[in-house]
Formats: sequence, structure tokens, C-alpha cells
Amino acid sequence: MPFMGTYIGKATFGWVPTCWPLQFPRWAPPQVAIVPKSKPNRQLTCGAHLGVESQQRWAASTQGETQMSTKFDYGLDLTNNSKVGWAFSLPRSKTCVNATNICKRLCYGNGIRYQSAGQKSKKERNFRTAEFLLREGGPELLFQNLCTVVEQARPRDWLTAQITGRQTVIPWTLRIHDVGDFYSVDYVRAWFLTVQKYAGCKFWFYTRSFLDVELFEALSSLAALPNCQGLLSIDSDNFEQAIIAKCKSPAGVWNMALLQDSVLNSNLVPALSAIEDSVDIVNFPYHRSGRHVAPLRSKLLTNCPAVVGGLSLKASKDSLRPCQSCTICLP
Ligand code: SF4
Repeated sequence: MPFMGTYIGKATFGWVPTCWPLQFPRWAPPQVAIVPKSKPNRQLTCGAHLGVESQQRWAASTQGETQMSTKFDYGLDLTNNSKVGWAFSLPRSKTCVNATNICKRLCYGNGIRYQSAGQKSKKERNFRTAEFLLREGGPELLFQNLCTVVEQARPRDWLTAQITGRQTVIPWTLRIHDVGDFYSVDYVRAWFLTVQKYAGCKFWFYTRSFLDVELFEALSSLAALPNCQGLLSIDSDNFEQAIIAKCKSPAGVWNMALLQDSVLNSNLVPALSAIEDSVDIVNFPYHRSGRHVAPLRSKLLTNCPAVVGGLSLKASKDSLRPCQSCTICLP
């Protein structure tokens, strides 16, 4: 009975639920269109499938608000930029829990591109929605909704590639946090479930959230997934804590990314040389408006080619972005 929204484990023809990602055509093959009956799809962002109690709590919390209030606006969205391609972003002020003074000062999130009202409201909306879903249904409910954003990042020719056995023109990749960071264990667990589910997508992330033990353990589990690469984001302020965290975590899980300021702590490179056999370190000389500080030359470091000039930014969503062709930071 393939109608009225009931899935019974068969391919569905002629009906697609409103919550299904738009890029799936109606004739999608069975492995794509099946949703087991025992797992009702809760990938809605307006609370409609969250149960009456959730809706009542939400209504009480917004009493007296106008319909224009941002409290009525929920959803999870990706950004797409000319260096990394698809990325998920959160507001720095609420999620960069271990931001150093250096990264606050040099963060490229300070750039004008990230300061537009549209960009800011998208990040706030992602955070508001993530918090709401975690509160109402824990990591499992946020995971179900993060699946929708990963689906958004599928290459345009993904289905063609499945049918013909060819490669997609660009790989399926998603950077977790173009801006923002992991701020709670439950939030990390939601991403763990998501990355685990989408083995065909490559994920990567940079983080400074390695000071809290429980949070770092959760992040290490995420970074250990075969289709995910985690990089400890370091600078002159926090490299010692990063080295300690790296040494406590299982071998081969973490790499490092250095934010190179114009002046570096003189102890930094010698300290990194103590762990050089167990880690790849990518260096990002501070850059802004096409200019960068002179890159540090050291056998320990690989300078990011998108910063030092080896790879140019690509505007089109359908062409290989610098990170997708370089892949140093990717799994
Ligand atoms: S080193 Fe490569 S993958 Fe990493 S940020 Fe630079 S271009 Fe992207």
C-alpha cells in the first residue's frame, strides 16, 4: 500500500514525503527509498513529529512573541564556500568553548564574508535548532535531523554514479564547522551517529575543544571513525595542552593544524618535534584578503596550498574545491 505515507519496506513509487530530501527523484531505487516501518521518520524541523509535550513546552516558551521572532525559526543548513565546499557552521560566541586569544583575534570568521546578517542568522538558527533537538530528544533526535544536511551535500551526480558504477565528478565531503566548534558531549554524539551512518561521505573537522576530558574522549571516538579526520587546532597559546591531549589519545587518531601568527612561541616547533612521528601537522600562515605571513619552513609542517598559493579558490559548486583536490586534512 504505497500511499498515505505508509512505508512497508518496499520501494515507494509515485509518492514522496515532504520531509524527504528534494534531490531524490520519485523513482529512487529501493535501497534509497526504504524507511523501515519501525523507525518513523522525524526529520522535520518544525517540531511536528516531536510529540505533544514538546510542542506545548515550545508554545509556552514563546508565549507573547510575535510571528516575526527568531524563536519561531528552526532548521539546519549548510554553507558552501570556494575553498572547502559544503560545511556546517555554528556561532563562535556560543560554541568555541576553548578559543584562545590568538584564534579570537585571527579567526577568519572575523572576515566580512562571515559577518553578513544572512550568515550570522544561519549560524544562530543552526545552534538554536541543535539545542532544541538535543533538549527534546537527545543526540538521537539531532542525529536524525543532521542526516538531512548530509544529504544536501551529496554530489549532484551521486545517483548516476550509483547506477552506472562510475565515480561522481566531485567527492561527497562535508567539513563539520566552517565556523564554530564542538561544545558539548551530546552534540558530539549526534555527529558520531551521523558520520557513522554516512560511510560514503568524508568528514573532517578542526577543534580546540580538547581541554575537557569527557568532551575530548567523545571527540576522539568521532575522529577515529574511518570516514572522519579530526585535527587539533593549535597556536602559540594552546600547543602544550594539545600535545598532552594527543599523547593521551589512541595512536593514529588525531592530526594537527597550526595557526601561524606573525610571531610564534619559540618553544612551539621544538615541542612539536617530540611527537612528529605520530602526527601530520598542517600549517596555516595567517592570511587575510589574499595576503599571508611568510610561511614557516620546517620538515614538521605542510603548508596549506590554498593559503600559500598552490591551489586557487573555485566558485562553482560543481568543480573540485581546493580541499577536495588537496585532501591533506581529509580522511
Ligand atoms: S591543507 Fe589542503 S585540505 Fe587542508 S585546508 Fe589546506 S587545502 Fe584544504
